[in-house]
Amino acid sequence: GFKCGIVGLPNVGKSTLFNALTRAGIDAENFPFCTIEPNAGIVPVPDPRQAAIAAIVKPQREVSTTMEFVDIAGLVAGASKGEGLGNQFLANIRETDAIAHVVRCFDDDNVIHVANRISPASDIEVINTELALADLESCEKQLQKVVRTAKGGDKPSIAMKALLEDRLLPHLNETKPVRGLALDDAERALVRQLFLLTAKPTLYIANVDEDGFDNNAHVDEVRRIAAGENAEVVVVCNKLESEIVELEDAERAEFLADLGMEEPGLDRVIRAGYQLLNLQTYFTAGEKEVRAWTVRVGATAPEAAGVIHTDFQKGFIRAEVVGYADFIAYNGEQGAKDAGRWRLEGKDYVVQDGDVIHFRFNV
Ligand code: GDP
Repeated sequence: GFKCGIVGLPNVGKSTLFNALTRAGIDAENFPFCTIEPNAGIVPVPDPRQAAIAAIVKPQREVSTTMEFVDIAGLVAGASKGEGLGNQFLANIRETDAIAHVVRCFDDDNVIHVANRISPASDIEVINTELALADLESCEKQLQKVVRTAKGGDKPSIAMKALLEDRLLPHLNETKPVRGLALDDAERALVRQLFLLTAKPTLYIANVDEDGFDNNAHVDEVRRIAAGENAEVVVVCNKLESEIVELEDAERAEFLADLGMEEPGLDRVIRAGYQLLNLQTYFTAGEKEVRAWTVRVGATAPEAAGVIHTDFQKGFIRAEVVGYADFIAYNGEQGAKDAGRWRLEGKDYVVQDGDVIHFRFNV
């Protein structure tokens, strides 16, 4: 599964967000919610296309695809020096595929701020500095390793040494995140070998007050920082989300309409996390179930089959594919067939977002 770690300073609204996310998991219809650890939750990825397909197929059940969120609390200044439970937190972050960084953008005198003032820029800097320092240490260790092998003429070591000395170390010495560096494909492949924390795709979650969505200087600050380091931004009110998630479906719709919201902010958070991970969805649609499955963007048909079962990948013969738009426009598989929009694809087919697929395989 794919994991998104939630980080941020204390008292910025991380737990509020995490609890709302896991509550959303419990409430999801037909979804067997499971808690792996107290601080980890699997949540369904909201996708209106699933319901649209189900409305045509009328299956016995629907199953969403999922992603995992992990609450990584307690990251404070000094973590990279082992302060507090610092090392443990950094180890937890290392295990995630992406980072959701919650930033406090609400003023509330009743909620104490650790530094006694609301300043997204300095909050972000505290966290990013700790992550950059941890990466700096990893890079310095790696440099010691490759210096010797590079001297011996080993080509990959020479490339790694150059990358570390010329690009990564100077950048990290300024406590800047590696995700902000412009790298070519070869450099990117080398960086992946280093498992750096600041190279992970990052989403800033600007946590605003109910009335803080417009003309919010704190949010502008977060956007400015994100733009400079290839990160994304989602603006939500975590407190409001924690209330929305407690409502019954009918009440929720009314509440959202009153607020002028089309969907809960949580849906935007989950989808942003999903996109950050470079993931996409394809569907299987039968009488028994309509189900969403997750694959990486660029996955081939056999790889997509392997998500359902490894045997499907091993015994892959062909994929019967109807694009999502065609599936809806022609009212399902038969209609798409009649319209000549049903395709048989081979092992090199690159799956498109929203494809409705039926795999043929040998067992
Ligand atoms: P964490 O330490 O980052 O996990 O922060 P919490 O989620 O425990 O939130 C700290 C405090 O801030 C709690 O009292 C929350 O109710 C409050 N809080 C969280 N989000 C918001 C928000 O959007 N607006 C306001 N006013 N308070 C919030």
